Amino acid sequence: MAKCPVCGKDAPARAVNRAFPFCSERCKLVDLGKWLGEEYRVPVRAPQEDDGEVPLALGPEPEGGGGRHDA
Ligand SMILES: [Zn+2]
Repeated sequence: MAKCPVCGKDAPARAVNRAFPFCSERCKLVDLGKWLGEEYRVPVRAPQEDDGEVPLALGPEPEGGGGRHDA
């Protein structure tokens, strides 16, 4: 017979137990709450959008036609 992962008691077979592999609906909820609680404790890392940054200094330089007088 399977053991309830929450309380360690014998869990009824899946055929007669909707909460399988837990022994009861309550233990199933306890396990679910445990997972949610751990999820809340993990800090959420927001993805930084640094990849699409293009330096503006690489733009086309002005030719400045007629600015040179070598004569
Ligand atoms: Zn249990």
